[in-house]
This record gives sequence, structure tokens and C-alpha cells, in this order.
Amino acid sequence: MSEEEAYEFVKGTLKEERIIPYKEDELEIIKSIEQCINCGICINHCPVVAGVGVDQFSGPRSIAVELSRSPPEFWTTGDKVYLCTGCGTCREVCPQSVNIPEIVNMIRARIFEHRPDLVPKELHKVLETIHAHEKAFAPWDDPEDKIDSRDMRLERLGLPLVDIESKESADVLFYPGCQAEEMAQEVKEAAKVILKRFDVNFAVLDELSCCGLPARLIGDEKTARELNTSLKEKIKSLGVKMLVTTCAGCTSNISDIAVRDNWDIPIYHMIEYLIEHIGIDRLQAEMASDTSATKITIHEPCHLIKHTSRQILDYAVEILQAIPNVEVITSSARDSCCGGGGMVAYHAPSVAKSVVGINLAAIDATSASRVVTPCPLCTATLEDNLYRSGIPIDVDDLTVFIATHLSME
Ligand code: SF4
Ligand code: SF4
Repeated sequence: MSEEEAYEFVKGTLKEERIIPYKEDELEIIKSIEQCINCGICINHCPVVAGVGVDQFSGPRSIAVELSRSPPEFWTTGDKVYLCTGCGTCREVCPQSVNIPEIVNMIRARIFEHRPDLVPKELHKVLETIHAHEKAFAPWDDPEDKIDSRDMRLERLGLPLVDIESKESADVLFYPGCQAEEMAQEVKEAAKVILKRFDVNFAVLDELSCCGLPARLIGDEKTARELNTSLKEKIKSLGVKMLVTTCAGCTSNISDIAVRDNWDIPIYHMIEYLIEHIGIDRLQAEMASDTSATKITIHEPCHLIKHTSRQILDYAVEILQAIPNVEVITSSARDSCCGGGGMVAYHAPSVAKSVVGINLAAIDATSASRVVTPCPLCTATLEDNLYRSGIPIDVDDLTVFIATHLSME
């Protein structure tokens, strides 16, 4: 039998047994799970297990075991993998560094390819929006309403509207992400106020396109890659030297794809950019000194501390401590997932709510009057759930908090 005939024979046998072989990049991820020693530490730390119990979500280790299944049998797996928020806690505590979040993404991609009927219908709807608009949120029906909403937000915060006159030879691309582009417009505008105050030569995209994270989390790797390529081309045509974003998910996702696809520019969260390129002394010098005393607590987004770098949150504390009359109080659950990740809230809101519950109790136990967090998704999730729970604590995106504490020019 020739080599070619042997290959065809093996392929035929696999088909008969309904086995779909792993691709080369998937085999790398599988090597990670082979390191597991079954200690169970990941289960003890998983916020979804803590929120809903092992009967509903059997935990990280069990997800990894599902890899031994053939995709046609994934109907037993579907219930589990779509409940993982992708927080990364399991990988962080695992003594063997088993990469569960990547395993979850890989299983979701295999389900999407071989058993799309098992993908929650709400996630198919998100994909429809992405395919229609290159964004995870549909644009406003009436663009005038979007402008009115932006202006109302700016007025409430006392922030000016910053016009960008020219994009020619900008050094920095400010990338707000889908959420701050369409929904949390105050975050985008606050970032522009800060960048202008420090004379940064920056541009924004005329037409923002998604970084690809939601498509990737749903398992549609093809769409995610197309969005990655589209964004790379837009950035290359601007010729900027770096990208700055205010979204935790965009920071971790774009950082990864920029390395994978050789973008050749550094990616920063706004907090990192402020400390590393503006400097704490300049920041402190621009802060208003006459603001009233505020006790705040910080929520730490998983996509920053567990997928990018914990140092970003050290920077966040450094900035907050440089604002006069602000006292930072630590919440015992400051780094616990808010439940907003992994697209869970789209199809299983009660599970997402159980996850955020751990946070709410801890925030309520502080004497803080405000929570700040450097991510518009965490901001929206905490704000909504604190309000629904009747806990009278305000929530601000950290970029907004900084912009509203700059001195008047
Ligand atoms: S990534 Fe987070 S939610 Fe998902 S299994 Fe790990 S600890 Fe649980
Ligand atoms: S913590 Fe790591 S080694 Fe322990 S059971 Fe979980 S995946 Fe396996």
C-alpha cells in the first residue's frame, strides 16, 4: 500500500468511526490538558461553579475531559462550554498551567464547525449582527439619536466634545471597541478628552470594526480572522505607531492577534498608556484639587488581570491615588469575574447573574460610594446588577472617572 493509499484508508476508517482528527494548532492546546494531575483546584476557584454549583456547571476539569469526545457527540458538551465566562481563574490557579480558557474556545470552535445546531440561538443572532455591521452591536436606527445620547452623557458628566481635526500622521490610534462606540459613548469621549489634554497626536477610525473577540468566543474562527484582517488593514493604512484602547477584552484580544499576525505596533490599555507614556507626575499635575472626598473601590476585569497583565491594575491604583480627595478601599472580591464574559449573559442570564452575585455582596460590604473599573463591559454589568439588587453604589468606567477629575482648562 502506498503512502497516499494508506492515508486514504485511515481517513475512511476515521469517517466510519465518526472521528474528526484535530488540526495542527489544536494539537498544541491538547498538549496542555495532558499535563493535568486531577488535583481539582480549578473547580474550587471557578466562579461559575461557585455561582450555580457543580450540578449545572461541572467545572473546568470536566470541560477539558470533553475533548476526548468526537464532535458528533458534542451534544453532551454543549451545555457546559457555553456557561464558561472565560475568566481565566482556573488557568491562574492550576499548578500545571492547563489552559482551560483556550480549550473552551477550541471546543466551541469545533462545535460551531461540526454541530452548529448546538450553538445557543442567541449567539447565532450576535453573529448575524457582526456579519451585517462588522460590530457586535447594531448601529442606531437614527444617527441623530446616537448623537443626542452622546451629548446628554457628556452634559451629565460635564465633559466637552473633542473634535479630531486631522488624522494625518497620527502617532496613536484610539480604539474604543464596539461597546464604547455604540453603547457606552461616554467612555470613548472621555478617552478623547484625556488624550487631547496631554497633547497626544491621535486618530479614531471613521468606521470602527470589531476586534473579533465575540466571534471567536462563539466559535466562529473564520469570521474572527476576517475581522482581524480588516482591522489590521485599517490600522496599517493610518500608519500609527501604537494602538490604545479602553476595553479590557479588546486589550487582551488585540494584544494576542497583533503578535500572531505581526502587526508590529504595541497595544496598550489606556491605563498603561497613561503611566508609561504620559507619566504619573504629569497626570497628577492635571488633576482638579477641589473635588469632594470620595471613597471608591476597584473591580479588576479578568481580561486585564488574568489575560493581559496584573500590572495594569497596579497602574490603575497608582492613578487613583494621585487624584486629590479620593480614597481607594479594597473589595474582598475585587478580582472575581463580573459574569459579563464568555458571551454567557446572552443566552444564560441567570448563570451570569449568579456569578456577579459574589461581587455585589463584597462591594456592598465596603463603605465605598462608587465602584470604578477599566472596562465598559464590566461597568455595564456591575451597574445593571447593583441597581437591580437595590445597592445604592454608583459605577464608573475608570477612563470616565479620570476625565471627570481633570482640572478645568
Ligand atoms: S475560565 Fe473561569 S468560568 Fe471558565 S472554567 Fe475556568 S474558572 Fe470557570
Ligand atoms: S487545577 Fe489544573 S491540574 Fe488540577 S484538576 Fe484543574 S486542570 Fe487539572
